Amino acid sequence: MFNLDSVRSQFPILQQQVYGKPLVYFDNAATTQKPLCVIERERDYYLNENCNIHRGVHYLSQMATEAYEHARRTVAAFINAEKAQEIVFTRGTTESLNLLATSLGQMLVNEGDTVAVTAMEHHSNMVPWQQMLKLKNGRLLVIPMDENGIIDIEAYGKILEQKPKIVSIAHISNTLGTINPVKKMVEMAHQLDIPVVIDGAQSIAHHKIDVQSLDCDFFVFSGHKMYAPMGIGGFYGKMKWLEAMPPYQFGGEMVDRVSFEQTTFNKVPFKFEAGTPNVGAALGLEAAVLFIQSLDREAVEAHERMLLDKAREGLEQISGIRFIGNAPERSGLVSFIISGIHPYDMGTIIDKMGIAVRTGHHCAEPVMTFFGIPGTVRASFAMYNTLEEVESFVKAVEKAAAMLR
Ligand code: PMP
Repeated sequence: MFNLDSVRSQFPILQQQVYGKPLVYFDNAATTQKPLCVIERERDYYLNENCNIHRGVHYLSQMATEAYEHARRTVAAFINAEKAQEIVFTRGTTESLNLLATSLGQMLVNEGDTVAVTAMEHHSNMVPWQQMLKLKNGRLLVIPMDENGIIDIEAYGKILEQKPKIVSIAHISNTLGTINPVKKMVEMAHQLDIPVVIDGAQSIAHHKIDVQSLDCDFFVFSGHKMYAPMGIGGFYGKMKWLEAMPPYQFGGEMVDRVSFEQTTFNKVPFKFEAGTPNVGAALGLEAAVLFIQSLDREAVEAHERMLLDKAREGLEQISGIRFIGNAPERSGLVSFIISGIHPYDMGTIIDKMGIAVRTGHHCAEPVMTFFGIPGTVRASFAMYNTLEEVESFVKAVEKAAAMLR
């Protein structure tokens, strides 16, 4: 079962006060807080197991290697990858997408080709593709959305007819909260043999992910948005792609045989993990996965949905409010502006009331351009948030709006 008090007790950071007020942490889309089991796992690694991996014959090195590979197996099972080797560890979503844009891009994209992304992408799922395409005189095709933040599926079908080499799409928008119909989008792309990358940065902590059922070619994620440490994340890739793709970075660990004339590369996934990885954080990621799995995930999802619905219900009463993102299928966050009030001013004032929200363009400037706004106030929720926190947040926004008008 899901016991909110017991979950909160795992996150001591939430018990603090800021400016003499209880902290209400609603910036979970930027990063989640870490439970004690994650912090302790990383600490324990450095206290007892720290060693470089995959290269020592001695005891500690073998222990650390086994622990790291165990973490890979745990992550693979968490998202239902068929094989542990289909999980590549990176620093997170951004590094995963740079790796894919470079490696998969280098393999598939020729002069003048295109890659399709949606109109609601985070910069991390757009700029790497855009920059790679520049080198090939290619361009991005943008899958449009409507005023509610819903993907235009018909337009997507037309874009696919232009034969982009890769489709790369957010599972959940970090700005609008829209849950995109990724399974259907994968199906449509596969009818034309186009591989699909899913940016799962905002979905993996909140919804059950099954990469085999999604049938996506790649699924990228960040640990720090799923209760794990910063500096770790990775991606799932279908074996047929990982085997065919060239390495992204070169150096130790990713090689097989090396001479001054020639180098052959290690097998998947090590081919993509050059240099010493963040072993401690990978073990923290495993602890985070076990933590999530120890809870009733449906109950957690229902709790987070309740927080979102109550926040919207409360905010709706405030005059001049405009929600940015009104797709019926949405998750995890509410983004809004209030007429005549700059989001930054709102964020600064409610911060003094103890409430941590994000303001600005949320690394999605084209989304702001589309809506003709400078930014939004974004409140994003996690399993440890409470209804009382939502109520204080709504009151704080009301009060700040009255002060700023
Ligand atoms: N994509 C999405 C949808 C995101 O929300 C984020 C983080 N805000 C990223 C990519 C980038 O993630 P990271 O900074 O962890 O690499």
